[in-house]
Amino acid sequence: MQNLYTQLDAVIAAHSEQPCLILDDHKVWKFKDLQRVVAAAAGRLKALGVTPGDRVVVQVEKSPHNLALYLATLCVGGVYVPLNTAYTEAELQYFVQDASPALFVGGGDRTDVTSATMDVRGEGSFFADTLADGIDKLDEMAAALSITPRQGEDLAAILYTSGTTGRSKGAMLSHANLSTNAQALSTAWGWQADDVLLHALPIFHVHGLFIASHCALLNGTPMRWMDKFDAAKVQQALADCTVMMGVPTFYTRLLALKDFPAVNLDHMRLFVCGSAPLTEQVFEQWQSRTGHTILERYGMSETIINTSNPLHGERLPATVGFPLPGLELRIADDDGNPLPTGEVGTIEVKGPSVFSGYWQMPEKTASEFRKDGFFITGDLGTVDVHGRLSIVGRAKDLVISGGYNIYPKEVERALDEMPEVLESAVIGVPHPDFGEAVVAVIVPVNEPVTLTQVDAALGSQLARFKQPKQIVNVDSLPRNTMGKVQKNALRATYQDVVDQAVT
Ligand code: AMP
Repeated sequence: MQNLYTQLDAVIAAHSEQPCLILDDHKVWKFKDLQRVVAAAAGRLKALGVTPGDRVVVQVEKSPHNLALYLATLCVGGVYVPLNTAYTEAELQYFVQDASPALFVGGGDRTDVTSATMDVRGEGSFFADTLADGIDKLDEMAAALSITPRQGEDLAAILYTSGTTGRSKGAMLSHANLSTNAQALSTAWGWQADDVLLHALPIFHVHGLFIASHCALLNGTPMRWMDKFDAAKVQQALADCTVMMGVPTFYTRLLALKDFPAVNLDHMRLFVCGSAPLTEQVFEQWQSRTGHTILERYGMSETIINTSNPLHGERLPATVGFPLPGLELRIADDDGNPLPTGEVGTIEVKGPSVFSGYWQMPEKTASEFRKDGFFITGDLGTVDVHGRLSIVGRAKDLVISGGYNIYPKEVERALDEMPEVLESAVIGVPHPDFGEAVVAVIVPVNEPVTLTQVDAALGSQLARFKQPKQIVNVDSLPRNTMGKVQKNALRATYQDVVDQAVT
């Protein structure tokens, strides 16, 4: 295994005259344009003192130049550390201290670390010098581009996990982790030479940066590149695409468009969804409105993609499919012992795309890997007799009420089936008697939903101890950029809701 960029550069060179990025203003970057800007960025990184193994922390808006900066970091053997653009200065402080980068590329100058600025068009100080040299100079640079040799196990990126729970941890991913997963996905999803990927995901996250971009780059196919998700624009853009990758919110927002689908979608080859659970209702509505069956898959920053519904064969709602080739997956009890088929337990995985550990957290790393090398994902799941995985919640999401365990996902699924409920999130809050009580935070379709309605609807489906003790109606659920409901925020807001009701 070599530097991942060596592999990508060969594809880029072979497709140099073909479109690579199709932008909102209909400008097109050909593969050779991307290669030139990668070369310029690689030169600039070296000039700024980045050497192999150095971290490059990047907090910039999504742009073609941002993509080039990622590839250039790989090219010079650096370790790419993308950060959510929504992080505040205080949060940024933590990441910069933790990653101790050789360079920070962001929107403003920093004094605590070597830094360079880059605006949305990549025209900050980072690129200014090189781009000013003109196209001929860039061509020369691209021709002379030397790629720093790397071993498969060498670090390529550190992804700080979403931070929905506790202190953010930096998942260390190697060139081999990225390369094997990209190859496996491109095969699993049958990537075709004429595919056009609709890319509206952020590229500071595993989904947009690796899963989506790598499939297109590895195959030399174009991406319809959108700086952010805008449902109306995405709907129009789908007319010229064949594959879309998105989080569930993409799908719900598209379905919420009054005229959806206003464009013919018959030509679409694949709709892929992940990063958060897709409800059965959205899965089914999408099927009935578009005729397409969403392919749901399951992954995380630490492992990239683990499982996928099949390209050919039945895609079932509320399941995330089968392990990718080479991945070992088991459902285990709290001690890592495999559980029988059909039982709920922690999902543990081992394979070529699984990260090597958390950056500078040896103890945390040791506690999240089993002795036999399996990574404890923290997700709860069950595998059926055919080997299909379903996720039922997160270990940290578990609610324990009166000594009984409740998996929020199961309750949410039941609530979401109520015609009065648009969506829901189930949390555990302190309860004077039971320790924790189940509370349902509900976004109603119209009128506020009452506890009596919920009792009536769930009474025959779920054991009494699983049913919500309290209902809170809200206008919308708090979500992070990747569409995940922020349960910590809900728990903090509603921690007194049951106590107050009891007293
Ligand atoms: P992140 O590292 O931010 O991508 O978050 C990874 C987590 O997202 C996983 O551990 C799961 O809890 C969740 N996740 C990812 N894909 C799915 C999916 N298809 N269904 C349910 N949860 C998912």
